[in-house]
Amino acid sequence: MARGSAAGTISIVATLSFEQARACVLAKVTEARVAPCAESVSLSEAAGRVLAEPVAADRDNPAVSRSVRDGFAVRAADLPGELLVIGEVRAGETFAADVQPGQAVEIMTGAPLPRGADSVVMVEHVSVAGQRVTVPRTLQAGENVSPQGSQARKDQILLEPGERLDFASIALLASVGRSRVSVFARPRVALLATGDEIVQVSETPLDYQVRNSNVESLAVQVARAGGCPHILPVARDLYAATRELVEQGLRFDLLLLSGGVSAGKYDIVEQVLADLGGEFFFDRVLIMPGQPLVFGRAQGKFFFGLPGNPASTLVTFEIFARAAVELLAGQKEAMLPVVWTRLARDLHQKTGLTRFLPARVSADGSAVDPIQWQGSGDVPALARANAFVVTEPGQENWRAGDWIRVLLK
Ligand code: AMP
Ligand code: MG
Repeated sequence: MARGSAAGTISIVATLSFEQARACVLAKVTEARVAPCAESVSLSEAAGRVLAEPVAADRDNPAVSRSVRDGFAVRAADLPGELLVIGEVRAGETFAADVQPGQAVEIMTGAPLPRGADSVVMVEHVSVAGQRVTVPRTLQAGENVSPQGSQARKDQILLEPGERLDFASIALLASVGRSRVSVFARPRVALLATGDEIVQVSETPLDYQVRNSNVESLAVQVARAGGCPHILPVARDLYAATRELVEQGLRFDLLLLSGGVSAGKYDIVEQVLADLGGEFFFDRVLIMPGQPLVFGRAQGKFFFGLPGNPASTLVTFEIFARAAVELLAGQKEAMLPVVWTRLARDLHQKTGLTRFLPARVSADGSAVDPIQWQGSGDVPALARANAFVVTEPGQENWRAGDWIRVLLK
């Protein structure tokens, strides 16, 4: 099925469904990767990085049993009843005395539960007169109390290596006193646009030329996935020039090519990769946009040949190459951000392909509306979209209100 690495031979390569191709990328990269080097960063630099060490609780969490409400610390067995208020305890203090039967201590949210008390009655549920508090209800022992160690025990592992650090994990690191943390080095990802028609963004293109937008979108996507993008010069559609740049690209941890993988006479990327000993896992996927997508490995490095139309490039990155970057970055797993919502209008598509159609999800998330577009080259439509509707290859018609998958942008 896969093309062999005998230099220069081009034989049959696999055409896969979307699901098969994604499974192939995940399996190949997971199987081949080695743990990246680790480096130490400060907490303020750690967001978005991948954790390289286990992180443990430095003490019980909470460290003492704490009230989760403003109210009165009581003994549940005393209730209902009238209790003597013997003092108050605020967050940031402890209460010195024990609470005896018939007694209560006024307590604020976050304050430690005084010894002898076992629960907290909310201030809204009592009436206070001088030193007496009347509680007309019963309470369960433990009510409105967060017990010592209930969230984590001292030395318990709370984050495993391979976890991508988000704002909540930063809160966790801060709460256990980690001002520095060990993270994996970012993979270096080479971006190589091909095509005689491509000019620099700063240039004024002639009518038959286009600006190199693909490496710009890819650089953003690579960085978002946890990689370090490196833009190579544009490869003209000439064998020698393309080969030299592909060789440079294969010195990085991952090579992403844009363009040159269709069936045209000057689409020479696959030939160059084959001549460099490339092994191809697939070179066509039953998707739209991006059908001629190529994935393989040469000289020990994975490469993707992403079709050059801007929609093809950015969609195939999101659904395949992003996972490769995330796994090479040391992430334990790569998740596709797909959710379900309802279609805002009827939709008709030819069967046979999984389609990724630019769309807008409504502000409340309750519906998705496909955007009118002119196909894979329509960058303005891509910019208007905040998501892609994902169609099933076997289904032709959807009605407004039907549930449908959406890939978030
Ligand atoms: P290709 O996949 O090489 O056949 O390219 C298909 C089309 O994608 C070209 O005709 C260009 O219009 C467009 N394209 C290719 N490369 C780029 C690029 N780097 N930036 C923007 N558009 C591109
Ligand atoms: Mg081309």
